[in-house]
Amino acid sequence: MALPSTPTASKAVIDREAYPDARGHFGEFGGMYVPETLMTPLQDLTDAYLEAKEDPAFREELDMYLREFAGRPTTLYFADRLTEALGGAQIYFKREDLLHTGAHKINNALGQALLAKRMGKQRIIAETGAGQHGIATASICAKLGLECVIYMGAEDMRRQALNVYRMRLCGAEVRGVEAGQKTLKEAVNEAMRDWVTHVRHTHYILGSALGCHPFPMMVRDFHRVIGEETRQQILEKAGRLPDEMIACVGGGSNAIGLFFEFLEEPDIRLIGVEAGGRGIRQGEHAARFAGGKIGVLQGCKTWILQTGDGQIELTHSVSAGLDYAAIGPEHAFYEQMGRIEYAYATDEEALDAFQTLSRVEGIIPALETSHGVAHTIVRAKALSPDKVVVCNLSGRGDKDVAEARRVLESMETDSA
Ligand SMILES: *Cc1c(COP(=O)(O)O)cnc(C)c1O
Repeated sequence: MALPSTPTASKAVIDREAYPDARGHFGEFGGMYVPETLMTPLQDLTDAYLEAKEDPAFREELDMYLREFAGRPTTLYFADRLTEALGGAQIYFKREDLLHTGAHKINNALGQALLAKRMGKQRIIAETGAGQHGIATASICAKLGLECVIYMGAEDMRRQALNVYRMRLCGAEVRGVEAGQKTLKEAVNEAMRDWVTHVRHTHYILGSALGCHPFPMMVRDFHRVIGEETRQQILEKAGRLPDEMIACVGGGSNAIGLFFEFLEEPDIRLIGVEAGGRGIRQGEHAARFAGGKIGVLQGCKTWILQTGDGQIELTHSVSAGLDYAAIGPEHAFYEQMGRIEYAYATDEEALDAFQTLSRVEGIIPALETSHGVAHTIVRAKALSPDKVVVCNLSGRGDKDVAEARRVLESMETDSA
């Protein structure tokens, strides 16, 4: 019996501007699951943001800093050697790795720091995983003369020692968090705790499209520039829109920043790539859609890696920036709708892509980014040479070289 084929979900009509709603929901996801004491500050922040967003003077100041301080626009670069080596689709990279401080994170850190200044808040706090958000925040705080405290898991401080030093050079205080797994989740908890007690003069710059409303919306909006530039650039360079777009997904900010502009283009396939770690077994990965369930974590309803009784699962990834149990609520929403697809790359596949891109194109990507590159290689091989794939190069790999070397050399020793 022939079953009617379900319409491919990507053909569904999308109204991207309709989300989140006024209470921060993306369909059933998102929201504000926070203690009472935070409701007023979050509402004030939402109001201040929505007002700033409509103020041309704010937009102008932000554009000036994005251009002069961060280095926008970033180029869209045709990877001719990688394309040729794979023999498939034409590969373009959006070069967020060329931004000041080395990753896309600066887009959001800048936006929120200017918003804090506008709100009269002199003290900034932030969490960081890989250290990229911490360094972006520390640098813009130095530039704007704001006090800066960064919370970072002790394990991440070990993996990203150079970024800790960079933050301190920029005048930030880095506070190590020794609780739990000593990674990003615990750093977010500490930052939240700080914010609750000092909210009157402190703004919390959350680093990904995560957490309670209005953060997922605000962070997404500050990264929309990635996709907006990409549309113009791919039309100039390839003469048409891409067939597929790919980005790695930790909390989901670089991915939604690239994808948002194209959500309403039904013919473009959008693929987020999560961290497959050592494989999809309990505690060995951070691929929320591969092993998670719907739940609430850190103020937000979304897909979360959790045990049967709702305890947050241990996670693992070779890249600190993807090593997190929850995914941003907007991703959960578009996954459910079938508009964005999610794949994962393992540590080993990411490390392979890290080396391939370095060798073939002379670009050393961040380990987070390498997950997107790994899947781009898979997709390009599967597509014919008339197809076009765009991958977001979310950050550069300088920060990861020591850790990659350690892991790669230990793999060689193991197999010797
Ligand atoms: C932080 C980070 C990520 C993951 O965060 P998203 O919010 O999912 O983008 C990816 N790549 C780099 C280079 C990062 O620094």
